[in-house]
Amino acid sequence: LRIDLHIHSTASDGSLPPAAVVEAARAGGLDVVALADHDTIGGVEAARAAGAGAVHVVPALELSTTHGGAELHMLGYCIDITNPALVSYGARASGARESRMRDMLQRLNDAGVRVVYDDVLAAAGPRPESIGRPHLARALVKRGYANTVSEAFDRLIGDHAPAFVPTRLITPAEAIVLIHDAGGLAVWAHPRYDLLEAELPRMVEWGLDGVECYRPRVMHADAERIAATAARHGLFVTGGSDWHGEWQGRLGDFAIERDDVAEFLERGGI
Ligand code: AMP
Ligand code: MN
Ligand code: MN
Ligand code: MN
Repeated sequence: LRIDLHIHSTASDGSLPPAAVVEAARAGGLDVVALADHDTIGGVEAARAAGAGAVHVVPALELSTTHGGAELHMLGYCIDITNPALVSYGARASGARESRMRDMLQRLNDAGVRVVYDDVLAAAGPRPESIGRPHLARALVKRGYANTVSEAFDRLIGDHAPAFVPTRLITPAEAIVLIHDAGGLAVWAHPRYDLLEAELPRMVEWGLDGVECYRPRVMHADAERIAATAARHGLFVTGGSDWHGEWQGRLGDFAIERDDVAEFLERGGI
């Protein structure tokens, strides 16, 4: 099995619609993928329909949590996408993300950067459930305020840049409860190792199930270190590309194997 458990679509800040993501996954030789859009399950159904028979699509999402004043992402896997609390979280997140985006635009406008909400919407493409900074970054490039998306983040909208406004949607503890109540498994996305060491005991107390470990550009030794720490706390590991679009390479260039995530597959009944 070739597996990728962390992929985005246009339901959030990815560049391909959900069905096209699954088609690209199939073309790239992937057997199991998880669509994990930011704060929305809006793309999962279309992805599952597109996968029928050829690609197994694990229903998932990536929750934007705030922990100690910083952003911390929590993946929810094997969730029931009809769960009412999850559906209403998605609606609330969508609204909160829009008003947070308007706050960021206000800050930019105050600094003389003329970008409006319609520019952001245009950069997001059709049916964006979850407006995010990558859409704003593309709008800033289009309007000539930055040469690249990455420069837009560095200078204007990154976590430590002047126009940044946090999403402040949910805490990690609340995210874990939300995921569990929807029948899912809670996994800490792309943890920084020092934070992982410091915060895992608390996260485990809150019910965390797993830690994301295998990712592109993460050195073998670092992955092994994360895996050992997770095992010490009785957690399973997962892995994925965090793919958002073609500029990150071809979907399927990065894949993990059944043995890497055997415990996750078993817990998730996959
Ligand atoms: P948001 O959820 O709206 O705060 O946007 C966060 C998203 O922005 C992440 O999921 C990434 O896709 C993207 N991102 C964050 N930092 C950077 C960066 N330095 N360069 C490019 N994209 C970034
Ligand atoms: Mn993203
Ligand atoms: Mn993330
Ligand atoms: Mn992600």
